[in-house]
Amino acid sequence: MRPVQKGISPIAGDFGKYEDAKPELVSRLGLYCSYCERKIVTLLAVEHIEPKDGVYGKPALEKRWSNFLLACTNCNSCKGSGKVNFRRFIFPDRDNTFHAYKYNVDGSIALAPHLSQRQKVMARNTLRLVGLDKPIQVFTDSNNEQVALDRVAQRMEAFGVAQVALSLMLSEPNVSIPPKRPIHF
Ligand SMILES: [Zn+2]
Repeated sequence: MRPVQKGISPIAGDFGKYEDAKPELVSRLGLYCSYCERKIVTLLAVEHIEPKDGVYGKPALEKRWSNFLLACTNCNSCKGSGKVNFRRFIFPDRDNTFHAYKYNVDGSIALAPHLSQRQKVMARNTLRLVGLDKPIQVFTDSNNEQVALDRVAQRMEAFGVAQVALSLMLSEPNVSIPPKRPIHF
């Protein structure tokens, strides 16, 4: 979960509809879920950091730039309308989330070892909030290939492809990078 820099709001005051902020968010953050970091070409939604409705909803923040991120449907629906207390969570637009986690080769996300006890609790709460603490699920598809269902594993597969390409390039700089393996998104 890399930190994101949204910058200041492109407009004075609140948006007419929160969906109107999507083009500007995409132009600044790219087509990536702010939580699981998958590239989402369709179904990427403007995500309300503090929920806009529900028991813990903050209707006043529904159309406010400072309350927006981009999220995939998995992270968004898992997060739901739960209470967001900034003393209990870390968020990629306000905390250095890059240093909060370490990514294991098996695709799981662990807490970075140098965190204080309080930081660990916050980092763990955030993983749970968006469902990134769930175990990795793998199934075998019709081509007998192992396909990861899990968001973390999907991202790690892309990471693995990049690492193989990098090590090949470093060991044999004159050899062209092999074609990408299929990545099941
Ligand atoms: Zn996501």
